[in-house]
Amino acid sequence: MELKSYILPLSLSIFVLLELGAPFYRFRVNKLRHGLINISTGLTSFLISTIVYFTLLSEVLGIDHGLSRFMPNEFLKLIVALLLFDLWMYIWHRMNHEIPFFWRFHKAHHSDVAMDATTGLRFHPIEVLLSTGARLPIYLLIGVNAEIIITYESLMAVIVIFHHSNVTINPEVDDALSFAITTPRMHRVHHSDFYKETNSNYGTLLSLWDRIFGTFNVRQDVENICIGLEDYRDDKSQSFFGFMTTPFK
Ligand SMILES: [Zn+2]
Repeated sequence: MELKSYILPLSLSIFVLLELGAPFYRFRVNKLRHGLINISTGLTSFLISTIVYFTLLSEVLGIDHGLSRFMPNEFLKLIVALLLFDLWMYIWHRMNHEIPFFWRFHKAHHSDVAMDATTGLRFHPIEVLLSTGARLPIYLLIGVNAEIIITYESLMAVIVIFHHSNVTINPEVDDALSFAITTPRMHRVHHSDFYKETNSNYGTLLSLWDRIFGTFNVRQDVENICIGLEDYRDDKSQSFFGFMTTPFK
């Protein structure tokens, strides 16, 4: 896990600095307090899922007999595995919006009223337990080694921090990037408090799946989007405790 261990704090630091220099939205929150709450939620979820899944994950990653063993070379194996993982992440994210039981936990991520790079870490521990558990059979089906998983998760960490970031990007550059990856303009629509917009742009790494499955959604006046969820805007809901109890409200 060496690659991932420095990529996440490095990309987080870079995007937080860019946000401070050129913020897109002028949120009325204390950025330090907001960032610390989001980082605490991320660390809590990471610790809990590591404790629960460590042994099981090591076992699963040691089995290299899934679909990808039919690939003729390592490069093709890597590309096919990355595409299949990303497709699974699209399906899983969409399930989190469309199945009420999963939305209960995923809405804690969406309740952030001031989306920035740290929101990329803000996932409820139960959502992380569910998503890690659901990924285990996918790892087995695709059949990959730890190196491929780490490559995907490292790429995912950078892109997830990037598309949550509150940095100002030239709209033409963002549009061009959105042909390949999920960008901040796309993801701001996903974090809108208008449910028809929330239920679009599910992609994690690639924008391809939203384009194929008809959930790609752009809006020209992104600056007018109201970020967050209507019922969770109060100070209590925005606190660490409020975040942890959001699924049970
Ligand atoms: Zn979502």
